[in-house]
Amino acid sequence: MPNREAVVRVLTQDVLGNQRRNGRRQYESMPPSAHHDMLDAAAAIVERAAGAVDWPRLLFEAASPHALLHPDRPAEDDRQYPSPVADLCGDCLREAFLADDTGAQDWTARPASPREHSGTDWPATVAAVLPHRAAASSHPFQN
Ligand SMILES: [Zn+2]
Repeated sequence: MPNREAVVRVLTQDVLGNQRRNGRRQYESMPPSAHHDMLDAAAAIVERAAGAVDWPRLLFEAASPHALLHPDRPAEDDRQYPSPVADLCGDCLREAFLADDTGAQDWTARPASPREHSGTDWPATVAAVLPHRAAASSHPFQN
């Protein structure tokens, strides 16, 4: 499954929860149009996030811990998707993507990036703060 679709599905599941479908896989417990709207919204989040990521920085940051922490690990143990980037594995890409250190992270002292929001009910938070939404304006990360 493409990563884009995987993220869209996870975000949609977080927002909508478990919905009931009939035998033809059509939604019965919610309007199908609302489901499509949510898929579009989740895709917009993915596109915004992808536009905000500094990809060269991500590759640079991922190469640092990989060389330091497991230089002997094969690039990727998934034979279907061997890493096209030498000396880089998926774990290091994941940690680099989640890194919050504004400088060069000390990967020996802190080999894992923080994961402090796994219990956050982000759809509920978004719903709660949405009434305070201001008019759209230019944003530094806007594409
Ligand atoms: Zn690695």
